[in-house]
Amino acid sequence: YDVRIAEGSNTRELNELIVAVNHLADSLGKQESLRKQLTSDVAHELRTPLTSIGTHIEAMIEGIWEPTNERLQSCHDEILRIGKIIQDLENLAKVESDNLKLDKTQINLTELSEKAVGNFEAEIAKKKLNVSIVGDNSVITADQNRISQVLINLVSNAVKYTPENGRIKIFISEDKQFIRLSVSDNGIGIPKDELPYVFERFYRADKSRNRMTGGSGIGLAIVKSIVTAHGGVVEAKSILNECSSFIIKLPKNKMEQE
Ligand code: ADP
Repeated sequence: YDVRIAEGSNTRELNELIVAVNHLADSLGKQESLRKQLTSDVAHELRTPLTSIGTHIEAMIEGIWEPTNERLQSCHDEILRIGKIIQDLENLAKVESDNLKLDKTQINLTELSEKAVGNFEAEIAKKKLNVSIVGDNSVITADQNRISQVLINLVSNAVKYTPENGRIKIFISEDKQFIRLSVSDNGIGIPKDELPYVFERFYRADKSRNRMTGGSGIGLAIVKSIVTAHGGVVEAKSILNECSSFIIKLPKNKMEQE
């Protein structure tokens, strides 16, 4: 995309228009290549579990493998993983297309955090994790379902990536301008050079290590979309093999003025 004008007709307005058109074309081009990337990422993410199921079932049909419970369970796990990827994709599509349609009400972040943690009660008990919610009892004007999803995704990761007897802490604080909520854990952590990419769609730090945990790499992209739609920012901090912290900052005044 490169719009130019003929010699001689060089007025300032025309030049500005050309700059704007080129800028727009550039941004459309970038969106198009992002869309292509997304399609190929989806294909890749779905192909892996499908190949595994296919190989297992083929070997069982041909009598090479006995259909043991373990093998059937492994197929079932992969099917669940495909289901999770599809559900995550649906959520991401919804969040990205509805970006501006937020249904805002007064919500209490401590209560919402408690509910999010409640969703993982069984896993938390199984792994004997110590979960605490501390800080200010903040109320914000935000979309309850969406912020709930943010909390669920962050807590889900903390539970998933923290080994037995680990600690998870949700800390809520506020100043004049912002409400800050962090979800921290003392789990496996994220390599420093991978940290800048964790909010990208389908990004999974250290793929071989994470294959076992069965995620899709979309959870944090959803978190970022929702927080951005609320005018907020997200940040990830981590030390490999020590701890991770995911921080969301939501602007208080802006939302209250709306
Ligand atoms: P996934 O479904 O793979 O968990 P996410 O988008 O939620 O996808 O996270 C992207 C990647 O960021 C994960 O695959 C993992 O490598 C890393 N990650 C996210 N949360 C944590 C955490 N609490 N501790 C360590 N690594 C994490």
